[in-house]
Amino acid sequence: MKATMMDTHLSLNHLLERAGRIFRDNTIVSRLPDKSLRRHTYGEFYRRTRALASALQQMGLKKGERVATLCWNHHAHLECYFGIPAAGGVMHTLNLRLSPDEIGWIAGDAQDRFLVIDDVLLPLYEKFKHLHPFEKVIVFPFSGAPLPAGMLDYEQLLAGADPDGFEYAAHDEHDPVSMCYTSGTTGKPKGVVYSHRSTVLHTLVACLPDYCSVRNTDVVLPVTPMFHANSWGMPYIAVMVGAQLVFPGPHLHPDDLLDLMTQQPPTLALGVPTIWLSLIQTYDASLKAASPNAGRWTLPKGLRSMVGGAAVPESLIRAFDAHGIWIMQGWGMTETSPVGTLSYPTAALKNASADEKYRRAAMAGLPVPLVDLRLRGDDGQDQPWDGRSVGELQVRGPFITGGYHEAGSPADKFTPDGWLRTGDVASVDEQGYMRISDRTKDLIKSGGEWVSSVDLENALMAHPAVAEAAVIAIPDEKWSERPLACVVLKPGEQASAEQLNAFLLDKSLAKWQLPERYEFIDAVPRTSTGKFWKLKLREQFPR
Ligand code: ADP
Repeated sequence: MKATMMDTHLSLNHLLERAGRIFRDNTIVSRLPDKSLRRHTYGEFYRRTRALASALQQMGLKKGERVATLCWNHHAHLECYFGIPAAGGVMHTLNLRLSPDEIGWIAGDAQDRFLVIDDVLLPLYEKFKHLHPFEKVIVFPFSGAPLPAGMLDYEQLLAGADPDGFEYAAHDEHDPVSMCYTSGTTGKPKGVVYSHRSTVLHTLVACLPDYCSVRNTDVVLPVTPMFHANSWGMPYIAVMVGAQLVFPGPHLHPDDLLDLMTQQPPTLALGVPTIWLSLIQTYDASLKAASPNAGRWTLPKGLRSMVGGAAVPESLIRAFDAHGIWIMQGWGMTETSPVGTLSYPTAALKNASADEKYRRAAMAGLPVPLVDLRLRGDDGQDQPWDGRSVGELQVRGPFITGGYHEAGSPADKFTPDGWLRTGDVASVDEQGYMRISDRTKDLIKSGGEWVSSVDLENALMAHPAVAEAAVIAIPDEKWSERPLACVVLKPGEQASAEQLNAFLLDKSLAKWQLPERYEFIDAVPRTSTGKFWKLKLREQFPR
């Protein structure tokens, strides 16, 4: 049986062509630095993207060469997502929240040839440009300020290019399209390279009805930065189905996001738990009659929300649900494209209680199709899916990276039989729902038993006076390690260590799992992708 299906290669260019033809009139909205909104149609996006690709080819970009972006979320960044691969290049998103030294090092490691940068980020560029010489710097006039000499104007470049005469660079589905560095929270940053094939497969899978379920009629607000694991693939998903996009630009303060949600109500929004926490706390505070923001905001009715990248506390899911907004939790990594698991109620939970549904929603969820997962114990054996046994989470699949740029497949990251070692400790129950108990490095070993910092944080954040909680290990002579809870109280609220411990006991935590000590702090330090940065806390509280 030789005659089966055509061997057509999977390609991002197909998604672009299709969007340009079919969804021409749907809109892409971007918030500019002055907070005004700029609208483009998909028809314009299509022509501008082809013009960018044509200009890059004219500039001599060759197949496989890297073009870095240092941009907020906006329409021109979306054009880079498709235009750079269309020209045969590899889009490398630089994380603007890293230090200048880290950005410069990463650009050098990736050997980026050109850079596309927002004009508002040029002061940052000045601080790392000595570390890596880009051959050309293309400035997107986001704020419209005059350009420094020697740089290219993105808009002039597009205006001078020929979108009609452009021809896609020859490629096959295994050719690279984009690249993203791991954040380095737990080690030196490493480059993960995505291909046409992995991106198209991830886009199809993540868009399935039980997962992101994005439709053409959706209005999508990606708050997750486009430099954080490709905004979880949402730019590709939205273009595949032609959904309306609303980009927040540089304005990620909760007040600004609530203003934008009120002005341009999304049907789907995505971001990390820390941002969603401050969003709901700001909104709930505005409901008090005495608030200076009383009546300023409306949360979109029926909004769906994808939250992940770190554990999503059950209290956060309940707080949004009180306003009719359902949060779907996902787990993933830069290495996994990134969607690996998502939590949604299966038919088996049809008659489950509300509490049981919340409990499941607070788990990382079920593996998406094409992703295999397993739990490996310290003894190298697979752990059973019984909801109790924990082991290192290992994954495998066509959109899981097989190695790192220049670094290959180191043994601490890959098993001899080719699975990715995630560094997460997890359990899976009989129904396939996965729960992350910790990162290997964050687990607290107390008297031979493991204490999950994630469990403690979730329980603490359910206390009405607690805004944020992060738990780390501190050394202990008798027990080897004990938990230290760093707690941020809500403005005007009070809670003592004794009251919090009593609350935790009430939440069925055992006495030996309770924090040994509490530190009441002003804010939990954040990583470059907005997650709790425990490394910094460990430095601050070494004992
Ligand atoms: P970093 O956190 O280092 O910035 P990534 O964005 O790649 O890098 O993060 C991947 C890690 O984030 C995972 O290995 C896991 O520890 C954590 N993570 C992601 N989603 C979840 C989740 N839903 N629950 C708990 N942890 C999560």
